[in-house]
Amino acid sequence: MTANRPTKLTPMMEQYLHIKDQYPHCLLFYRMGDFYELFFEDAEVAARDLQITLTSRSSSNSEFRIPMCGVPYHAVETYLPKLLAKGHNVAICEQVEDPREAKGLVKREVKRILTPGTVVEDVNLVAKGHNFLGALCWDAKANSGALAWVDYSTGDWSGMQLKKQADLWQWAQKMTPRELIIPDDITPPPSFALNETIVLSKPAKAFFDTKRSSEKILESQNIADLAVLGLEKSNELVRSCGALLTYLKQTQKSDLTHLSRFKPLNLSKHLILDDITERNLELFRTLDGRKGLGTLWQVLDHTLTPMGGRLLAERMRHPWRDPAPILETQNAVAYFFEHDSLRSEIRSALDLVYDLERLSTRIQLNRAAPKDFVALRQSIGTLPVVRGVLEAVETDSQYTTMDEEQQLTLPPWLSNVLKHWDDLADYHELLEKAFVDNPPHLITEGGLFKHGFHDELNELIELSEHGESKLEELLQEEQKATGIQKMKLKYNRVFGYFFDVPKGSVADVPEYFVRRQTLANSERYTTPKLKELEEKLLAATDKRKSLEYKLFQKMRDTMAEARSRLLFMADLLAGLDYWQSLAEAARKWNWARPALHSETHISIKDGRHPVVEAVQGSSNFIPNDLRVDNKRKLLLITGPNMAGKSTVLRQMAIICIMAQMGSFVPAREANIGIADRVFSRVGASDNLAQGQSTFMVEMMETARILRQATKRSLIILDEIGRGTSTFDGLSLAWAVVEELCRKSEGIRTLFATHYHELTALEGKIVGVHNMNIAIKEWGGEIVFLRRLVPGPSDRSYGIEVANLAGVPANVVKRAKEILALLESNSQGSSQTQTAAAITSLLPGIPEAPVKKKPAKTPPVNTEPIDHPLVTALKDLDTDNITPMDALKQLTEWKLLW
Ligand code: ADP
Repeated sequence: MTANRPTKLTPMMEQYLHIKDQYPHCLLFYRMGDFYELFFEDAEVAARDLQITLTSRSSSNSEFRIPMCGVPYHAVETYLPKLLAKGHNVAICEQVEDPREAKGLVKREVKRILTPGTVVEDVNLVAKGHNFLGALCWDAKANSGALAWVDYSTGDWSGMQLKKQADLWQWAQKMTPRELIIPDDITPPPSFALNETIVLSKPAKAFFDTKRSSEKILESQNIADLAVLGLEKSNELVRSCGALLTYLKQTQKSDLTHLSRFKPLNLSKHLILDDITERNLELFRTLDGRKGLGTLWQVLDHTLTPMGGRLLAERMRHPWRDPAPILETQNAVAYFFEHDSLRSEIRSALDLVYDLERLSTRIQLNRAAPKDFVALRQSIGTLPVVRGVLEAVETDSQYTTMDEEQQLTLPPWLSNVLKHWDDLADYHELLEKAFVDNPPHLITEGGLFKHGFHDELNELIELSEHGESKLEELLQEEQKATGIQKMKLKYNRVFGYFFDVPKGSVADVPEYFVRRQTLANSERYTTPKLKELEEKLLAATDKRKSLEYKLFQKMRDTMAEARSRLLFMADLLAGLDYWQSLAEAARKWNWARPALHSETHISIKDGRHPVVEAVQGSSNFIPNDLRVDNKRKLLLITGPNMAGKSTVLRQMAIICIMAQMGSFVPAREANIGIADRVFSRVGASDNLAQGQSTFMVEMMETARILRQATKRSLIILDEIGRGTSTFDGLSLAWAVVEELCRKSEGIRTLFATHYHELTALEGKIVGVHNMNIAIKEWGGEIVFLRRLVPGPSDRSYGIEVANLAGVPANVVKRAKEILALLESNSQGSSQTQTAAAITSLLPGIPEAPVKKKPAKTPPVNTEPIDHPLVTALKDLDTDNITPMDALKQLTEWKLLW
């Protein structure tokens, strides 16, 4: 910026630049009266990104004009989200002394820094999603690293230590923090450039220092020993947590006491879903990156509160491995599932609850607007309603069961909720008494509190709001006392209030009237009483404003004390919301309660893919049975493209994930052996931007699965070995099947493949079991039956599928001829011979030299014709094809040629 600075500056500009130099990575919002102004490049950036006018002001050397733009201070909150969404940080610089009292230039200080990963205002946040700030470090000597993350808006934070750097980055991808702090001696993998996360590289010493970090943790958590948090042996995790705290302290400039207890993520208690699996199964986003339709989230989410929504997202990200919480959740979900009216009453009550966690955080950080208190009041006011709905269960025999002594018993989850319930009635009463229903946004202008809340304020409200009538009363009093009916009460800026008496009545004016002004037709007077009333009125408005400001701060302190009780209830409500949401989804889609056990077999009757079903409609979805057990550990699924192989694979994984979240599942019956991890290798996604080919990505994923999968894992493999020559691919796929059946006495796997050769492994390798998705041939075409049946499919039907897809008839016909020949030649011939046979069929391409006599060819067209691929390419409507379809098309062609 220095290059564009004028040489001579006004004192104010000097102050501005002095502050700006301390915040080079922020847009500096510099308070000047009623505006926040931005100067130099900051002004250019903000004017562009906010679409506001860029102006300029003169500097001391008159030829240089400083670019500037500004926003009114009271509207700043509407502009900030736009800048944060574009990844900018914003430093808010306030006037820290009253300009009227300042000697010389008003003192200014940066009061807070807004960054995408630390915002707390609702406009900047997704209600049902966490907004994480992350910190990652790696110690090469210790061969260990850690990732920690914090949602500053709720106070939740967690993290974990891992032994592999690649795994840490994967977790960082999975948690998708908005900002990620790393020491400057490690480099993120290229995939981070494509991610929404902003990676911040900070000097390792300052941010990740072990001693400083542990001090910061002890201080912010108010504890004497790291062992309280289970962090005494987790050096790297301590350092990552320290980096988070340092960054928060530096940007937020407030203490960090609102953070909850740090809870390390204990992976052994959860079903691990890595980032790739989360993406492949389209849990939160579709494969092309969209949210909403086509995701599991959309099917499952019937939560009504932001806390419930965030809990659902967390459970989807980290389902349980421990059977106890799964069963407890199932019991509650089953209850809401069975009792429709209970569910609908709870839903109506929860619908009125706002974001208790974030409201409480804003109050704690002194960043709450008056409307936040009203929202809090409404939310707390709903607590007795929710309790009432739950308590009605106690007395209503349709919801309860009888124990041996014929006593009504409540389900344990419900009595547990009711036992700890807190209506927060004291706080509700206070808020109810205090705030008006529609308070103004500003806390300095009064009008926040109700009449009746505070004695002194009552009087001031009376005066400031009913001043006019008091003046009117005084006028009438004087009119009566003097008998001058034509006397009027008027106001002007110079004299304030005065009585205006027409010339004709001046003789009747009593002595205590003091003349202020003489006009052509009237005289103007004041009286001691009028003067006193006027002073009171004018002072009342100011006094009211400052008293309300003080009372607001006091209310803030009082409500801040309620934080732990509020958070406790927020948690309870989130749980209720989570249960009812799963029950609502289960009802809507007719799901069943799965049985879970600690063996490894899985049996699903009439299973459905919840997302495909939701998109296509239940009547269009064909359910399928699936069974994996000791004899059938690896299901080898064959069938043409489009038959439904991927759907069956994903369906199995999704059903297991849902079951371990405590949810009901899309099946008539399900019996599920709890898994420790779900692995997936699905689809051909090139990571060209990261310099990796499809085949490389596929092999890296396969390698990871083979190394990390355990006896308890569940693997879905949607084709492997495609990106290389047929024989290479087949051999790899074969070896992988062998390994999966050998390792840990066989790992539960669903393997969809086009390599029909693999189906010969059934009976030869223990655990391999062939299944195929049935189709029917009908008049030369195929009909997809979507039924999973035992045994291998007889062939690929690639040409028939190409025909269905609209590949021109001449190409399809030609492909059939070629296929017939290849099949007749392939018996007993080597790879080279088959290749020779293929090339001999290609018009215009010289035959490859072969040792054996070339194979017999079908009568070749004498006309010069294009290679079928060229014809197909010519026929392709490139203007109207999506990249995804193009990719599919390429894959189809690869299969055909
Ligand atoms: P494949 O993996 O064999 O190429 P997919 O699993 O991608 O096939 O399925 C192709 C399409 O078929 C899906 O997008 C879906 O619309 C439909 N489909 C799959 N399974 C079923 C089913 N069981 N019932 C109804 N439609 C299905």
